[in-house]
Amino acid sequence: MPVFPSQRISVPGSNGNAFAHINLPSDHLRFLMANPKKSKLISSMPDRTPNQSICLEQGEKWRTHHLFQQPMHTVNGIDVWFGNIVYLKTNDCSIRFLVESFHTANKNIFARGYLVRAISIVCYGVEVAVTDFRVEQISHVDTTPVERDHYYSISSSLTRLSPAHDFLLFGVHPMKKPMPLSVLPGNVDRDAVFYKVRIVSIILFTNDTSGNRSKQYNPFESWLMRCAALPFKDRNSIANIQFLSTIPKKDGANGMSLLPAIVDDFKKLEKGVKMFSAEDNEYVLVVAPILWIEADTPCHSELCGLLGPATTFPCRRCYIELRRAKVFVKDLFYFCECHERRTREHYVLANSSPGRDTEIPNAPKIGMNTPANKISFRDRSTGRLLELQSFDPEKDTPVEILHTILLGVAKYMVIDLVKVVLKNDTATIARLSEFLTDYTRSTGLSRKFTRNLRHSGSFLGRDFKVLLQILPVILITEFSGNHELDLIIPCFVELGRLCSLVFVRQVTSDFDNYIIRVDNAVKCLIRALFDYDKGTKNELHKAYCTKPKVYYLTHLKEDIIRFGPALNYETEKGEQFNKHIREHLFHTNRQNTSRDVCLKFAKQVALQHVIDGGSWINSSGNREKSGTGIERFIKDNNESLFYYTFFGGSRELKDNNDTGDIEDDAVQNNSFGAFVFKNDPISRPRIGLVSGSVVKFLSIVPRTDNDRNNNYAKAVMTGEHSDVANMNLVCKLDLHIFRNPFYIVNLSKFGSYWFIFNNILFDE
Ligand SMILES: [Zn+2]
Ligand SMILES: [Zn+2]
Repeated sequence: MPVFPSQRISVPGSNGNAFAHINLPSDHLRFLMANPKKSKLISSMPDRTPNQSICLEQGEKWRTHHLFQQPMHTVNGIDVWFGNIVYLKTNDCSIRFLVESFHTANKNIFARGYLVRAISIVCYGVEVAVTDFRVEQISHVDTTPVERDHYYSISSSLTRLSPAHDFLLFGVHPMKKPMPLSVLPGNVDRDAVFYKVRIVSIILFTNDTSGNRSKQYNPFESWLMRCAALPFKDRNSIANIQFLSTIPKKDGANGMSLLPAIVDDFKKLEKGVKMFSAEDNEYVLVVAPILWIEADTPCHSELCGLLGPATTFPCRRCYIELRRAKVFVKDLFYFCECHERRTREHYVLANSSPGRDTEIPNAPKIGMNTPANKISFRDRSTGRLLELQSFDPEKDTPVEILHTILLGVAKYMVIDLVKVVLKNDTATIARLSEFLTDYTRSTGLSRKFTRNLRHSGSFLGRDFKVLLQILPVILITEFSGNHELDLIIPCFVELGRLCSLVFVRQVTSDFDNYIIRVDNAVKCLIRALFDYDKGTKNELHKAYCTKPKVYYLTHLKEDIIRFGPALNYETEKGEQFNKHIREHLFHTNRQNTSRDVCLKFAKQVALQHVIDGGSWINSSGNREKSGTGIERFIKDNNESLFYYTFFGGSRELKDNNDTGDIEDDAVQNNSFGAFVFKNDPISRPRIGLVSGSVVKFLSIVPRTDNDRNNNYAKAVMTGEHSDVANMNLVCKLDLHIFRNPFYIVNLSKFGSYWFIFNNILFDE
């Protein structure tokens, strides 16, 4: 059996050093790379398909950060490298191609580089503009030595070689590591054989895990990791979340105490670590940079070495000043726009003196210099993260929508609605509750809203996920005559629009437009909240615009550009994984929880590895693996019971997002959706109501200003229909409110807003 090598590390605490256990990322990667089921899936290259975001490889960081660029690719059995000059399969021998990197686009693999033109027999010009070629067009590598004084860069004229071209031709790529002679056959030229490079991008997650269900006692902090290249669904399944460590929060130790060990490991992984790859059937160089670190807001502040969200300069990205005081009056623009950036350079400067008293230039405003500790830089306990090339505290701590929107802005608003605005109006609350119950009973939402509105203070993320999809449209259609609600209804409408947009897994086309719409929705929400703050006369009202979570939304656009849709960095799955950790906590005797939990997960990894047919080095130094018998044994012996017994609990995490995506569930009678004809799948989708064996079609009528303000559209029956059997459902929709003759298209349903504007109302 393989053994997972959990590490015992010392962590500084208030009572001297204590110990914790950790399953290091590099050890996890060694197992994953040697696992034939995982090896191929976890490494990947940038995806440059334009104007879409269907996988994380398409995010800006992945496409541009140097550690994520693939420096080699095997073409017809030959490794083609960064800096190689290759001949192309064209008839023109005067043109060669200087390779820089490899990427994918529209499911094809491309080499990116520069055309090299023969100008004379002693003069070659390397074009300055980049060019992409399908790798299939590469013929062979030119092995003639390159003479420096024969090469020039060309744009409009010949110039000396640019530094980039010079490095390509004469530098050595840091990921290009020669194989030692000992592993090569004697007749091979040592300088010609290098380890293949596999880039495995990593997402880290850190969070508080309470030791019991009431969350009050025995707090723990945990670290988890996931491989970013896995498809959305796989990335969120328990089997693909790797446990690193959990540590009791006491005596001055906490999750941040584990950072030195984690940073040291990633410093090695950024340089590259040799590991056996089941996919390549040989040792390769695995480079594993961090894509982002996921956490809730207080944890993100802590990771960045900033004071908590209540501080005067709470933003990780910029120096907006936020104060709760009544005298703190600013205009709308102030709350919508980005302020002076808190850059990585600033973080490095702030970390350079023990007392955090280094002056930060142009902070908080252009032309001002301010000591770091005056602009909410706290201490240096997490400063070691700055040693990583792949981590930027400003950019790689994406706005987390579970805590920022659902448990932040949405929660403030629902509590405000019930406990402030309708405080003494029990009749309206009762009516509202009735509508909510009726509505969820009749719609295509996969989950029901069963909570009592009065308990909104204890709602979970999944409760808000149901509520926010229906509350705006109910308020606007049933309660707009109620003047108590005049100021808060527009806020819910804008929140509904924003949620519908951001709770999507992917954007298949027109991504630029998607980003503009998200940014608009954020600004409209802040404007509605601003008008509410200014307009309300209620003594109990607490201002929204000075709350950090409201302001953080203005940065959401940057994260979506850098990484992709926000559901990718929502922490709900990580939070659910905590339940899994907690089950393990219960089974320990609480003497040494960090060790016991770590070893338990380590054993699971080793067992899973054997089941998946992974290989390992045995005691005599040879690589071995299990036969196919184990897999067959499990299949024959009640698979789910096996997993339950050996891995504890269910294998899957719940998805509460109801994004309108079509999984394999069947079309339900009396439900609405967008459909395309099976024999014409690229036709424009049509809205339809499933009624028995037919789909009745509806069409949207031109929207009025009022419809736009209410974030809905109206549809009418066209009288046409088609057999259900002829149609494919492409998106579930909600049109359950009927105002004769109009069906109200609820654009607050998650995913609906973008779907309708990207497919049906695209000229609006
Ligand atoms: Zn924390
Ligand atoms: Zn900011």
